[in-house]
Amino acid sequence: MIKHYTGIIEHYRGRLPVSLSTPVVSLGEGNTPLIELKNLPSLLQFDARILVKFEGLNPTGSFKDRGMTMAVTKALEAGSKAIICASTGNTSASAAAYAARAGIISFVLIPEGKIAFGKLSQAMMHGAVVIQIRGNFDDGMRLVQEVARDVPVTIVNSINPYRLQGQKTAAFEIIEELGDAPDFHALPVGNAGNITAHWIGYSEAAGLPTATAPADMPVSDKRVFSSRRPMMLGYQAAGSAPFMRGKMVENPDTVATAIRIGHPMSWNQAWIVREESSGWFGERTDEEILYVQKLLARHEGIFCEPASAASVAGVLRDITEGRIPPGATIVCTLTGHGLKDPDTAIAQSSRPVSVDASRDAIEAVIISNMS
Ligand SMILES: *Cc1c(COP(=O)(O)O)cnc(C)c1O
Repeated sequence: MIKHYTGIIEHYRGRLPVSLSTPVVSLGEGNTPLIELKNLPSLLQFDARILVKFEGLNPTGSFKDRGMTMAVTKALEAGSKAIICASTGNTSASAAAYAARAGIISFVLIPEGKIAFGKLSQAMMHGAVVIQIRGNFDDGMRLVQEVARDVPVTIVNSINPYRLQGQKTAAFEIIEELGDAPDFHALPVGNAGNITAHWIGYSEAAGLPTATAPADMPVSDKRVFSSRRPMMLGYQAAGSAPFMRGKMVENPDTVATAIRIGHPMSWNQAWIVREESSGWFGERTDEEILYVQKLLARHEGIFCEPASAASVAGVLRDITEGRIPPGATIVCTLTGHGLKDPDTAIAQSSRPVSVDASRDAIEAVIISNMS
């Protein structure tokens, strides 16, 4: 009998801080495909096995759903009537959807004019109270923390520790599919919550300690199912790369709006991840990020959003430069779906051809494209 899949909390119950009476709020998140790149290795002539974990196939189109199912579930359990977040877009889309599911109110703060259209449409459609601020994500994050001291709203940004607990389940899924941890795991880094969450997951699975794991969230199910942990690689956009500069960035700018963050919330944790995993941070220009986004779409059939492509862009460069050894198995997280940001996609694609509605005209187009 095939069991109906009902999301990460039910699937990894023993590894998450929930009890049998916890009111689970789920949209069936998780269980996303791990797709091996098939055409790019020969096209670009490199010797490595790259698999992409396509988190854009979560219910609202990004990995944020893994964290949001936990954060909203725990907010509901605690009797909260409203949630709030600052967002570059995907957190707001996810918060709005899970709040709708839970029957509570969501307030989302977004930087005016700097959020991809798909994400904005989601927050609006799910009935969030959308507050556009004349400021950037970092301003929004600061305001959310100030406001939550005065009014009874639960913050569901990744400073909410339940978010990382939910997000760590992506590492479990990868281990279950590969039979062990990969050699390397690459992610785009904004607030650095996701890279921290993956490291917590990999560490739990390997039964190894990490200073990033919260002490107050013991897991009851400690079955070891991996023999090791991967080296963690965090990639940023060049115009928004505080981990490369070694300090906060005041006016971050990049086409990859999901990682347009100058003051990462998980700053200390991410440095610990780098240290404990012997990994590294890297940066790529907007041009390189968009080029790789297009490569994935054209040659692999995988449409991710610009920020997501930073992971693959980083890995391709580090393979070329020999930092990643030949034959390595690398997992890259594709954090969000390309449909989130149609404007950026259309801006870098060739225009559709316009012809008369005639057989001759269409055959002419076909012939010219096949010769
Ligand atoms: C949130 C987000 C990121 C950044 O994740 P952090 O946990 O903030 O480092 C990257 N890509 C996409 C698509 C996102 O939505």
